[in-house]
Order: sequence, then C-alpha cells, then structure tokens
Amino acid sequence: MNGFSWVCPYCGHAATIRDEDMCSYDSILYIKNTDGYRCLTSVFIVCPNAKCRRFTLTATLRQLESVFRPNGSGRPDYSGRPILREWSLIPESKAKSFPDYIPKPILDDYGEACLIRDLSPKASATLSRRCLQGIIRDFWRGKVKPGRLAREIEQLEGLVDDDTWQAIDGVRSVGNIGAHMEEDINVIVDVEPHEAQLLVELIEILLKEWYVARQQKRLHLEAIRKLSAEKESARKVERDKGSRS
Ligand SMILES: [Zn+2]
Repeated sequence: MNGFSWVCPYCGHAATIRDEDMCSYDSILYIKNTDGYRCLTSVFIVCPNAKCRRFTLTATLRQLESVFRPNGSGRPDYSGRPILREWSLIPESKAKSFPDYIPKPILDDYGEACLIRDLSPKASATLSRRCLQGIIRDFWRGKVKPGRLAREIEQLEGLVDDDTWQAIDGVRSVGNIGAHMEEDINVIVDVEPHEAQLLVELIEILLKEWYVARQQKRLHLEAIRKLSAEKESARKVERDKGSRS
C-alpha cells in the first residue's frame, strides 16, 4: 500500500501511514443468517512521530454479498464493501487533543460532545452549545454581554476576524442550528448527525483560532523580548569592558 494521510489524535502530528505503521485483521461472519454476511475489520495504527508512538484502534463493519474462503492464496480484500458501522475504540472518540491551558470545563464539554456525537446527536449538540457559550464568555470576557447564545454570537461580529466570523455565521445558517441557538443552552433539541458534527468542528476552529493562536503569539513575543534583553545585556558588558580599558 502507498500510504495515506492521517492525523494523530494524541499529538496532532500529520503523517503518512505506511504498512509498517499499521496492522489490520478481518473477522468474517460466514454463517448464513437473516441479516447477511458481515466483515469486521479491526485496525491498529501506531503514530510515526518518534516522540509519541501511541496507537489507535478502530473497527469497521461491512456488508458482504457473498463469502469466499481463500485457499491459502492470500487474504481477500473487503475494503470496498459498503460500511454499516464504524467505531473508534481507542481513543474512544475522534476528539482532537488540545493544550491544557484551555479551561478544563470547556475541554470536558468538547470531549463529551465528540464522544456521543454518533450515539446521540442531540445530546452532543446540547453539549456543543454549552461549550460554545463557555468559550465566548471566557475568551471575550468583558467584551461580550452574557445573554442568550444567539445574542452573544451576534456581538462577536466586528470583534473577530472575517474568516472566523464567516465560519461562525456559516454554521448558524445550517439546518436548525441557528434556531437552537435562540433556545436556552440547557434545552435539548433535535439535530441531524451532520449538524452535531458541524458544531463540533466549529468548536475546534475556535479553540485553534483563539486559544492556541493567542498562546503562540504570547510565546513568540516573549521569545523576542528575551532575545532583545539578552542583546541589551551583552551590549552593556561590552560597554563596561570598553570603559574599564
Ligand atoms: Zn502521535
């Protein structure tokens, strides 16, 4: 296999996964039954990043029209067959890893929204709305007047850059999400699975564009300050030497 692109859920490293990074096994339901033949493929992937090397485990259930047993001539390829279910077993959800300088309640809501996204889109969307409100109230403290989530979002226009605003506004216009932001965040409302997914993705964008970007800027400025302080003290030493000689 030529390898495929993959992003590690633990360290965020983007990598190309090759044969030596993964192993997969097929388990076939070949007994005749009313639902049809099935293939369950379990896949282990080990992160190629030398500093990480953690593994993920996923399982995929596929529908088979027929079962043929190989007679010692290699393994049949079922990868093109229709997928019925997919599970992320380790880690349990597709939540991305974010640094711990982001407040814990926000990361907890985000993690749980990811965890139950497939099982219960409406519970996931409810957690996402709460997470979204938590982010806005924490990150824009003093700049956004607390109220209904929809009103708080409206106040962001002009505060945030155009691209981020387009992303927020875009998600609001999908399906029932906009209407749900009018509701109290604790009201559980029906949403389609793809709407729950969009909310999770919006949260990921905001965590990255706001918290991570702010921290990177801080570190960058700190490094510049440190460097100029070092240069200044080096100049001072030179000056002192000069005045003594
Ligand atoms: Zn990794």
